[in-house]
Amino acid sequence: MMDMSRMKIGINVDIQRTDGRIHSAVISGVNPEAKSVTVEWFERGETKGKEIEAEAIFSLNPHLGEGSKPGGRETHSSQSQLNDDDDEEYTNGSVSPTEPPPLAGKGRGKKGGSGGTVSYRSSNRGTVSNAQETPRFSNRAGSARSRQSYATRPPATQQNGQASNGQAEVAEVAKKPGIPVPADRRKSNCVKEVERIEQRRKERRDKQVAIKEQQDVEYDTGDPNWQFAAMIKEFRAHLEYRPLTSSDPIVNHQISVCVRCRPLNKKECAKKEVNVLTVPNKENVIVHEPKTKVDLTKYLENQNFRFDYAFDENATNEIVYRYTAKPLVDCIFESGMATCFAYGQTGSGKTHTMGGEFTGGRGQQECAKGIYCLAARDVFKLLHTKFKKADLVVGSSFFEIYSGKVFDLLNKKQKLRVLEDHKGQVQIVGLKEEVITSADDVLRLVAHGNNVRTSGVTSANQHSSRSHAVFQIILRKKSTSKLHGKFSLIDLAGNERGKDTNSSDRQTRMEGAEINKSLLALKECIRALGRKAGAYLPFRASKLTQVLRDSFIGDKSRTCMISMISPGMGCCEHTLNTLRYADRVKELGPGGRVEGKPAEIDLSDNYNNMGAMSPQNSALALLKTANQDEVTDEMMTFHEKVNHMQELEEEIIDDHKSLIDSSQKWLTEQKKLLKQSDEVDYDVEAYAKQLDSLLGKKIDELVLLREKVTNFRKDIQEEETLSKNMKAGKKK
Ligand code: ADP
Ligand code: MG
Repeated sequence: MMDMSRMKIGINVDIQRTDGRIHSAVISGVNPEAKSVTVEWFERGETKGKEIEAEAIFSLNPHLGEGSKPGGRETHSSQSQLNDDDDEEYTNGSVSPTEPPPLAGKGRGKKGGSGGTVSYRSSNRGTVSNAQETPRFSNRAGSARSRQSYATRPPATQQNGQASNGQAEVAEVAKKPGIPVPADRRKSNCVKEVERIEQRRKERRDKQVAIKEQQDVEYDTGDPNWQFAAMIKEFRAHLEYRPLTSSDPIVNHQISVCVRCRPLNKKECAKKEVNVLTVPNKENVIVHEPKTKVDLTKYLENQNFRFDYAFDENATNEIVYRYTAKPLVDCIFESGMATCFAYGQTGSGKTHTMGGEFTGGRGQQECAKGIYCLAARDVFKLLHTKFKKADLVVGSSFFEIYSGKVFDLLNKKQKLRVLEDHKGQVQIVGLKEEVITSADDVLRLVAHGNNVRTSGVTSANQHSSRSHAVFQIILRKKSTSKLHGKFSLIDLAGNERGKDTNSSDRQTRMEGAEINKSLLALKECIRALGRKAGAYLPFRASKLTQVLRDSFIGDKSRTCMISMISPGMGCCEHTLNTLRYADRVKELGPGGRVEGKPAEIDLSDNYNNMGAMSPQNSALALLKTANQDEVTDEMMTFHEKVNHMQELEEEIIDDHKSLIDSSQKWLTEQKKLLKQSDEVDYDVEAYAKQLDSLLGKKIDELVLLREKVTNFRKDIQEEETLSKNMKAGKKK
């Protein structure tokens, strides 16, 4: 028979926790009917409590039968070692206390919602961070920004240092102070506790060995990156995948920015590259950026980006086309201008998407499945149906822009000049435009153009990484040949080339500068597209944007950018750069979309100061204002120098050409004059005067050109110095 009167509020008793630990607590309440008591103890800075059957207290505290000294509330030092699993104690408790705990302080007894559970908390505890936060990707405004990042912790075996320390627990239990119990019973409790702890430690070890064995089977744990692979796998296991399907609606945007991830290729698979990209749904892409802390702990920074559409590695060219370029085809029939850009690092899949898949052993390209051809097919489809009666013909041109120069791919790679008339209309002089009557014609032209483009170069990708290829489908009025609409499809130079402005090789530097400028200008031109008429476009900053100028203006202009990304871990930095750029082109807010949010360019200042600048440099100044972080003053000076060089170069080449032309005429005149001297009665004075004038003219012409050449050479020298200084500055 239990004597409940022995249970007094305020006395010290030993209690046993659900995990087996035994420690002392203070009785804080007695419930004689239920034959139970509530006890409280102090742990990890908090007062905790629970309800225990009186019987359990008596069996653990036989001295209670002999009467016990009431003692004050006691705290002990085990708090730092006690585990947090006391939560179980509360939630598993099947009985609710009959009275709230009498202990004063912040802690207030709180009845739980179900099963009458209680939680005595003296303070709000910080949320225990989960090993992994599982992201939810709703199609609505899920994120504060279009980008967000969160971290993933490493797999279990990596955290051995953090496993709970069994020995410390034993020590804690053994050294509980001032518990007034007989030494022999105390000891036996301790022994039991030690055994339990031993057992738990063994279980933990076994579990870790099992995990390790499993990981050894699943991953090549000899691979330095296997933990990243494991973390990514774990992350994906918690994701809900809802990839794009062809039944998803096609949304029309004036500016659309999409992303396409290619699969790992054979080479990357052979190298056991880790795929760091996840496309959970039709508009998000997550980059799992591998990171290592100073203590060498590996973790992932999961960066999330949102675009109009996200295509995963399983998306075909047809699907990509359906949601990117296809919606723009209509626009050119309605006398609009359409552009579709493939943007990304070399090897990310730009040419695969635009030109067609590389099939067959010798890299044969299947152009029919490229966007060039798919678009042409739809143009003809519309021409033969909806616009059957329209007075339209279809033409096509194909050119590349390389180091700021235009080459005609349909005309033996002839170098062409770009001119701007007084009305600001830009023209590529002499660009060949072939009339096409079917998609097959396009196949032929693309194949021919690609051959011309890469003929005589050692590596097609090496070359294409440095140039932009522009394929155009042009609609003209049959009767007047007047331009009706134009679709430009552009396979851009590899964006990593924009960094080549540091190269020690001038040619590479010039190419890099042009690519850098053109990609910055392109971004600003697209951003400005959404602005109302009259906005200043920095299209003169590069040849690319200059020749596409008419596509960036007018209400009917529409554009689409497909950002291509490679999945390999080694490409992570480039991939993030590509995504950040694309994100800037069109910043998708969490709620609603911001169509072509313009660059924050302070026109008032720049515009007024532009009077003295060349049009190219004033466009550059705008780029700088809009991209403060990317374009340093040094870079700006470098670009100005390069611009100046390019302008001079064009001028000198033109002058040189006319010098040759005029020299031929000059020579004929000279010969004629000389012939006069053969005659018996020739006028010697007139002869001398004429010869003098002819020589003078030539000399003037030569001196003038020479001056330009001298300046040009000076520019070349200065460019070299600037670039060297820039490099030296970087090294510092
Ligand atoms: P880029 O033009 O961006 O330099 P490519 O289009 O030449 O890149 O692609 C590089 C390689 O990757 C090619 O061998 C190509 O066949 C392959 N590739 C690109 N995208 C895909 C894809 N979506 N599916 C399969 N292979 C692809
Ligand atoms: Mg390419």
